[in-house]
Amino acid sequence: MAVTLYWLQAGACSGDSMSLLNANSPDLIETLRELEVDLLWHPSLSVGNRTGHKDLVARMQSGEQRLDVLCIEGAVIRGPGGTGMFDTMHGKAKKNVIWNLAHKAAYVIAIGTCASHGGVCGRGEVEGTGLQFHGRHRGGFLGEDFRSSTGLPVINIPGCPAHPTVVTQALSAIVHGAHLALDAHQAPTAWFGTTVHQGCTRNEYHEYRVEERVFGEKGCLFFHMGCQGPLVRGPCNKLLWNGRSSKTRVGVPCFGCTDPDFPKPFAFFQTRNIEGLPIDLPDGINRAHYLAYKGMAAAAAPQRLKSRESNI
Ligand code: SF4
Repeated sequence: MAVTLYWLQAGACSGDSMSLLNANSPDLIETLRELEVDLLWHPSLSVGNRTGHKDLVARMQSGEQRLDVLCIEGAVIRGPGGTGMFDTMHGKAKKNVIWNLAHKAAYVIAIGTCASHGGVCGRGEVEGTGLQFHGRHRGGFLGEDFRSSTGLPVINIPGCPAHPTVVTQALSAIVHGAHLALDAHQAPTAWFGTTVHQGCTRNEYHEYRVEERVFGEKGCLFFHMGCQGPLVRGPCNKLLWNGRSSKTRVGVPCFGCTDPDFPKPFAFFQTRNIEGLPIDLPDGINRAHYLAYKGMAAAAAPQRLKSRESNI
C-alpha cells in the first residue's frame, strides 16, 4: 500500500520546499515514485483547486483519508493573541488544522528550523513556535508529551533550509520501516550526530589557528568571521549541497542554521571574542586549555598554511 504524504506550509518562506525541489540523485519526483509515495498535496507540486484541497483536508481530519506522513514546513503561528488568525487556511486558523492532522498522522516531520524550533518566526508578534520545541525548550505547539499514532515524537529536520537529501533519506527510512534514532532535540542522529566542522576542508587551518580576517584570505572562519561549524550539529560538509558544495567550502561561515536557537541575535560575519578568543567554544572545552593549545598550534603552523597556498 502506498504511503500517503501531506505537506503543509505554515509560517514559512518556502525555502524548505525550494530546497527539496533541488534534491538530486535521485530527484524528488523519482524519489517519490521509487518509494511509492502517494503525494496527497504539496503547495509547489499539486495542481488541485481550492475546493478539492478543502475536501482533502476535511477527509484527513475525519479519518476518511489515511494520513501516513505529515510534513510541516514553517513555524506554527499563534498570533494575534493566541487566535492563530495571522495564518489561515480556508478562513480558519491553520494551527488548528495542524493540531488535528498531527493527531491523525503516523509520522509527523518538522521540516526546517522554523517548524522544529520556531526559527525566524519564533519570536515577535506572530507568536510562532516549533511543533514540539520552542528554541531549546521542549513543548512547542504540540506539547512535550505529543506522540503520533505510531507512538513517535515529532521528527525534527532543522536547517534554514532543511537539506533536501536529509528529507528524502528520512522519508526513505520511514517508508522502509527503518528505525530513526533521534538526538536530544529529536533530530535524526544519522545526519545531526556530527558538527558542521567535521568534514570542512578548512580543518587544517583550524588546527593550526591560521585565521581568516577578510573574506577570500584562505583560513579558518571560526576565530573572526563568525563560523559556528564547531558549535552546531548538522549535515553540511557531510552531505554537500547540490552534491558539490557547502558554505565553508565557498568561504562563507556556517551560520548555525540547524541550531535550536537560530537565528542568534548577533552578526553573522563576526565572531564574538575576548582578546581574540571566541566567547562561544565547542561543548566540553576547557577555555584555558584551549587558549594554550591554540597558541602553541599557531606557533607550530607550517609555512605552507601560513602563506595560504592551500587550494581550498
Ligand atoms: S571554517 Fe568553520 S567549519 Fe571550517 S574548519 Fe573553520 S571553524 Fe570549522
